[in-house]
Parts: sequence; structure tokens; C-alpha cells
Amino acid sequence: MIRQNYVGLLVYHGFLLTDYRVIGDVFLLDLILHFCVMTPATVATNLLLARCPPRWLRAGAQTLAMIVLALTIVVVTCASRMPDRDVLIFTIILVVLFMIVMQGVEFVYATAGCAAIFILFAFGMNTFDAHSADRILMADSIMAGVMIFSLFGAYALEQRTRAGYLLTLRDRLRNEALEITSLRDALTGICNRRALDAALLRLLARRAFDPSPTSSVLLLDIDHFKAFNDTNGHQAGDRCLKRVAAILTESVRSDEGKVYRFGGEEFLILLDDHPEAEAAAVAERVRARVAGERIPRDPAGSAFVTISVGIASGRLGGETTAEALIAAADAALYAAKRGGRDRIWPPLTVDRAERDPDGLRAARA
Ligand code: GH3
Ligand code: MG
Ligand code: MG
Repeated sequence: MIRQNYVGLLVYHGFLLTDYRVIGDVFLLDLILHFCVMTPATVATNLLLARCPPRWLRAGAQTLAMIVLALTIVVVTCASRMPDRDVLIFTIILVVLFMIVMQGVEFVYATAGCAAIFILFAFGMNTFDAHSADRILMADSIMAGVMIFSLFGAYALEQRTRAGYLLTLRDRLRNEALEITSLRDALTGICNRRALDAALLRLLARRAFDPSPTSSVLLLDIDHFKAFNDTNGHQAGDRCLKRVAAILTESVRSDEGKVYRFGGEEFLILLDDHPEAEAAAVAERVRARVAGERIPRDPAGSAFVTISVGIASGRLGGETTAEALIAAADAALYAAKRGGRDRIWPPLTVDRAERDPDGLRAARA
């Protein structure tokens, strides 16, 4: 808009050449209006636009500037006594086109502006006493036609622009919603494998600049879950998975790490900047919380749901890859299973547990 205003001002000043010939008798007044009214008015409008004012002020200022411009044209043509001065008043058509087509002033403001400019034009035409009523009517009709066509076009364009904006916005919101859904596990609602891959990529990117911190992976697996399903049914198994997922998410603080459903009845906890000792404390805390919930594994309630946890640590981006870390955690998980289940591997030493009071309490319990 600012650039267009200066282009418009340049074209307006270009008309000084024709003004000099057509309304030479009021040329001094014309110069004053050009340089003492319209030039400062344009600069003031542009200074206002540069400050990104609210919509009403921006459109209002633009419309007002156009009304003032039309007024300057009416003033000079009415003040002149030269024979062809009436042709010059039709330059108001350019003002209307500039306002609606070039600047795209909003429909409501453009309509108000057109109404004001039409009154000025009709007033100007009326003062040319050499004109018959029919000629004035014809001129007013032409001006009204120009305004109506331009306004209709502007209205249609505005509707299309707004509809286009809304459609783009809807697509963006849908995409965002899809993106969020695609990163969640449908059953448990926690982050899924896809989210884990993305998190690992982000972590690796961070570690490319600073490979010193140690990251840890905890791989957790529900013990005897096939038997749980066989005894209680698949739907009860699903409910159990949801419950375990909720316990895990509640047990891990957001500043520690995040829980992912790795697949089936396996979960993964990614602990950024956690050496093995701290990771073992978190693993023990999580294991103890699940066992502490005492979810019955059979209707008689003779046994409860437990988990086994494999721990692996390493410097991601340094000597260790994400795949190697997960493979090591998987191997540790099988060691925990072989060791009798409901345990973490490598096991928690008191020295390690002291770093995590919750884990220590759990270990002692
Ligand atoms: P282990 O203690 O050695 O881990 O034994 P397990 O029975 O837990 O291990 P196994 O791999 O033999 O069985 C895993 C079971 O988990 C088999 C499968 O039916 C069940 N499972 C995997 N995903 C789901 C799920 O989304 N819902 C339900 N209900 N069960 C699932
Ligand atoms: Mg398994
Ligand atoms: Mg299992």
C-alpha cells in the first residue's frame, strides 16, 4: 500500500502537465494543492501505514486520503474558467479505480468513500453552468456505473480472498491435528514409535553439536502378558496396557524423559542427559510403581502385573548410535527376564539409588 501510494502520487503529479494546459488560469492553486495538501497527506498516510495500524484505521485513512484527492480535483476544476476544465473532473474515475482496484480498500470503506466522492463529483458537475441537465445526468450515470462495477468486482474478490484464507486455515488446522494424531498410540494415547523416531532424530541433531552428555534408553516389557490375555481376554489386556501406560507416564517427570509405546506390550523411556546410574534409579522407580499398583493377573488375584526393564546408556552422536542403544537395552531386557522378571537390568546398586530418592525407596520396599 505504501509503495502504491507513492506510485499514485507520482501519476497525480504527472497530471500537472495537462493541468498547465487545461486549467492554466488556476495553476498556482493547483500547485499548492499538489505540494502543500496531497503530498503531505500521502506522506502522513504512509507514515501511519508503516506503523501497522488496526484495520479500521488503515482503511479509514486510505479512504479519507482518496476523498481529499477527489476534493482537490473538484476545487481546481470549479475554480478554473477555462473551456475544457470539465474533462479534467473525470480524472476522479482514476481516483476511484486507484482506491478500489489498486489499493483494494475493504468493501465497506470503499463504498463509503465512493458515496462521498460521488457527491463531490456531482457537485462539481453541477457548477459547470454551460452544461445542460441531460449532460450532467449522463456524466453522473457514467461515474455511478464505474463505481458500481468496481465495487461489485471488489466485493467478489474480497469474498474469494476471505474464503481462500479460511480454506487454507482449515487445511492447516486439519494437518496439525493429523500430525498430532499420527504421533500418538491409538490404544494408550501415549507417544508412538513414529514420535520416538522423531525424538531420536531431534536428540541426534542436538548431540551433533554437543556429544558429551550420556543418554539412556529403558526398554520395558509386561511380564507374562500372553498369559494375562489368555486368562482375562484381549479387552482386559487392552485395559491393562492403558493402565500401565498411564502409570509409566505419571512416574516419569517431563524434565527426565518421555514414555513411548514401542510395540505390543513393550514401552520405551528415552532419558536425555541421564547416565546409567540415574537411568537405573528411574527404571527401578517405574518398576516399583507398576508392581505397587497390584493389578490382578488372574480373577483370583493370586498374582499381579509386573514389568521387566532393560537399561542401556551411551553418548549418542559420539560412539553410540540410537539403534545400538536400543539393541543393548533389548539385550538387557532379556537378561532381566532370564533373571526372573519383575526386575531391572543391570540391577540398581545402593550407590546408584542414592541419586534418586524415589528409586531408593522403591528398591528398599
Ligand atoms: P514375557 O514375560 O517373556 O514378556 O512373556 P509375554 O507373555 O509377555 O510375552 P509374549 O511376547 O509371549 O507375549 C506378548 C503378548 O502381548 C502377546 C500379544 O497377544 C500381547 N499383545 C501385544 N499387543 C497387544 C495389545 O495391543 N493388546 C492386547 N490385549 N495384547 C497385546
Ligand atoms: Mg514382549
Ligand atoms: Mg511380555
